[in-house]
Amino acid sequence: MAHRVTLIPGDGTGPELITATRRVLEATGVAFDWDIREAGADVMERYGTPLPEEVLDSIRANKVALKGPITTPVGTGFRSVNVAIRKALDLYANLRPARTMQGIPVCHENVDVVIVRENTEGLYAGIEHDVIPNEAAESIRIITRRATERIVRFAFEYAKANDRRQVTAVHKANILKATDGLFLRVAYEVAEQYPDIEFNDRIVDNMCMQLVQRPREYDVMVMPNLFGDIVSDLASGLVGGLGVAPGANYGADLAVFEPVHGSAPKYTSQNKVNPTATILSGALMLHHLGERQAAMRVQSAVAAIIAQGRYVTYDLKPSRDDPSAVGTQEMADAITAAL
Ligand code: NAD
Repeated sequence: MAHRVTLIPGDGTGPELITATRRVLEATGVAFDWDIREAGADVMERYGTPLPEEVLDSIRANKVALKGPITTPVGTGFRSVNVAIRKALDLYANLRPARTMQGIPVCHENVDVVIVRENTEGLYAGIEHDVIPNEAAESIRIITRRATERIVRFAFEYAKANDRRQVTAVHKANILKATDGLFLRVAYEVAEQYPDIEFNDRIVDNMCMQLVQRPREYDVMVMPNLFGDIVSDLASGLVGGLGVAPGANYGADLAVFEPVHGSAPKYTSQNKVNPTATILSGALMLHHLGERQAAMRVQSAVAAIIAQGRYVTYDLKPSRDDPSAVGTQEMADAITAAL
């Protein structure tokens, strides 16, 4: 039977990345019944909102979605559609694996880390206001026992299911004593229930330095929302950049798969950006759908094309203006052929 999946192309480079990914996923032989739904800046005019309720209803009904990136205006304008989807559907866990691949020049070989980011609260609670317009503003950072318990438990369960040896809690409890103090205490409480997995903690600034210098010492890292956002971009930089960094958002029974990167709007409709991050997000989705063999085939095909280094986009070439770089669709063609 075909898997019914909500497909959100997004905006900016999203639609071209989703087209490329869809072709690769379909080439595995797994059958999909795509329920295509529009969201983002482009639908504002038609629906009066960048996130029509029917998009959320579709994800609720199908329980799985593949999503392209969606632009959020900076400083003013509508709130992030990406954050709104995660919050409305209580997709509390954002999983962002970062792994080196042969063929991508990096500072450290054999990096294999996973960022587990809390997705529903922290500074992304969106509670902020002007105190004195143009003079002072404040933002409220929420940390709760409930959200911390479930995200730390998610990190340990992920570690257990995937033969990971260590979980690190990342925080700023030395300064944010109430919020991150609570996060850290709860993390230690949950860790006691998993005696077979090593547990430690790092202050977020030190964590960034350690990741740049000694990334192989780390494995699964769990952290509040904003730290997860920042540290996962750092981790993607360690393994070749945003073009190769996949992601997944999980709730109790829903899941939305999307790359770590944003809409890269300056490259829209240029057939230029790397489809790997979205394709590997698709592989995470195949895994979630129980299509493990197909997931592994997609990962191997991507790895083979990147290792060969011929049919890859500009960001994976030694120089960014390398004339031998191929476009988004051509890289997807090569991956499809490798399947
Ligand atoms: P971005 O991730 O879109 O792009 C930053 C840079 O990373 C690009 O200029 C490019 O050099 C590189 N990059 C990104 N994706 C790439 C790819 N597939 N291949 C090769 N290189 C790639 O970040 P930004 O410019 O800060 O944000 C643009 C918009 O995206 C903003 O509106 C932001 O809010 C939004 N955003 C959306 C999501 C999401 O949809 N989940 C995530 C992050 C940012």
